[in-house]
Amino acid sequence: MEASPSDLGGNIASANGAGANLPLDAALPWSIFEAALDAMLIVNDAGYYVAANPAACALLELPQADLIGRRVADFLSLDTDFETVWQDFLAAGQMRGEQQLQLDNGTVKTVEFAATAHVQPNRHLSILRDISDRKRFEAERDALSRQLEQWVISSSEKIEITQAELRSQQQRIDSILNSLECVVWSVDPLTLETIYVNAAATALYGHPPEAFLADADLWFNCIHPDDYPLLLADIEALSYQGKIDREYRIFRADGTLCWVRGQARLVRDDVGTPLRIDGTTLDISDRKRAEFALKDHQATQQALLEAIPDLMMRIDENGNILDLISGGEIVLYGPIVPERGQSLYVSFPKELADQRMHYIRIALSTGTRQRYEHTIEINGELRHEESRVVPISQNEVLVIVRDITERKRAEVTQADLNQKLKLVNAELNRLATVDGLTEIANRRSFDQALDLEWQRARRQQKYLSLILCDIDYFKPYNDNYGHLAGDDCLRRVAQMLSTVVKRPGDLVARYGGEEFVLLLPDTTLDGSIEIVEKVQAAIAQCPLPHDYSEVSSNLTLSFGLVCHCPSVKEHSPRELIHRADLALYEAKAQGRNRYVVGDSFT
Ligand code: GH3
Ligand code: MG
Ligand code: MG
Repeated sequence: MEASPSDLGGNIASANGAGANLPLDAALPWSIFEAALDAMLIVNDAGYYVAANPAACALLELPQADLIGRRVADFLSLDTDFETVWQDFLAAGQMRGEQQLQLDNGTVKTVEFAATAHVQPNRHLSILRDISDRKRFEAERDALSRQLEQWVISSSEKIEITQAELRSQQQRIDSILNSLECVVWSVDPLTLETIYVNAAATALYGHPPEAFLADADLWFNCIHPDDYPLLLADIEALSYQGKIDREYRIFRADGTLCWVRGQARLVRDDVGTPLRIDGTTLDISDRKRAEFALKDHQATQQALLEAIPDLMMRIDENGNILDLISGGEIVLYGPIVPERGQSLYVSFPKELADQRMHYIRIALSTGTRQRYEHTIEINGELRHEESRVVPISQNEVLVIVRDITERKRAEVTQADLNQKLKLVNAELNRLATVDGLTEIANRRSFDQALDLEWQRARRQQKYLSLILCDIDYFKPYNDNYGHLAGDDCLRRVAQMLSTVVKRPGDLVARYGGEEFVLLLPDTTLDGSIEIVEKVQAAIAQCPLPHDYSEVSSNLTLSFGLVCHCPSVKEHSPRELIHRADLALYEAKAQGRNRYVVGDSFT
């Protein structure tokens, strides 16, 4: 079937007439055609528009005059097989569907259509409705749905991933929390019921986490009664202070005491409502023990330092007092009190500071300890200090100052006493060894000397001579001249004997009463006879009158001599004295005023 322009023109002309020859009037009144909101188009067998209502003009955006005579295919896309579709339509009589129309101005619109063929011979009615907006909306909706679907899919995937991550994170956190040594906990801020507590509770408290979860009071029951009020005050203050940090004691399940450090924080939500109290409790027993030990140690050290009577200072190379370790009993300086941070020259008199600096320099340059003493006059009184300077680093020394004033005074007193003692001892010694009357050696001295000389003579195989002498008729002398004269006589005889016997090693001693003894080491018999004769000569030279003697008008002496070289077998000089005594006795017997040589003996 082909479209013919004449056929179209006829239709248009009649369409413009008010209802005359309207090809559809039986089926569709013109008024409806005109007023209908849907586009209505009448198409002839060849597919040309022969009538279009205003809605159709609006839809296809062409004035009626331009639209009439156009073909349906003009508005379809080129790839549409219009001819086939058209023939199918004519054959079927009906067609419904959606179709895209391409307008002259390039706009593409989507329409919903319902077409009825053969409403009249060579006339077919097509009703179109613009559904472009709806389609766009649907497309957008579909796109959004797809996006949403996509998002939901990806979100749920993400949620699954996140949940898995959360689970592994939770496991990690649990593992970390349970591997911690410190107890980590969380409690309800109102009821103080435990929300969470890690495994460390078992080790620290001796109660498992479940025990704390079941019993809100357990935390408090463990606290040492003395520390309990402090913890309660902390919890009360938590609402405005926000946190707790306290060291306190707890009792463990086995009754042992343990020091802990509790730290807690009040956790609030966005609007400030308290959510939880999160905290940690750490065993600090070891640290506390160390602290107490250190305190004890420091106290002991302090007590020791305070007990030290010495002044101890740390001084730098420039003479500044860095530290006053112990103040000592600073009586030494009276009003001068050394101070931390001060120069030596401020703390001490210049002379003393100079001396200190001198030894500090030596100590620092040699690295060796220095010691010196210093005497200073304070308030007219001499005081003495003894200082030790010990290098403790390249540029620091420890100076220890001791007040030795008392010691010095004691030393002086002691030296005095020693001197006196020496004199007293010497006097005592003299008194012990010297005869009080004649002031020559006494019997005790003689006995000691005899033993020594006897041993020496025995060792050296030398002669030892011994002379005993006795004043003749001394009793009548005493009786007639008086005892004092007798004493004086004894002194003179002693003096005279001493002037004769003066070789070193010789000894003149008072043997007892009016008897004297001469001990002559390394002296032969001839030597000793010579001595006797010298004594006799001396007494003759200075005669002492003795009117009551029966042998002379002057005082005379009788002598008993012995001379002997002791053999190694002889251990005692007793025999020597005995022989001398016998010889003296013999001299007396022979008439006095003579000497007799004692028998030799072996
Ligand atoms: P003989 O010639 O035999 O030795 O006779 P004698 O008188 O000297 O001896 P006797 O033993 O009888 O007397 C010794 C006297 O010496 C007795 C005593 O009064 C006297 N005599 C002893 N010691 C002291 C003394 O220390 N001072 C004085 N004044 N007389 C003394
Ligand atoms: Mg006598
Ligand atoms: Mg006599």
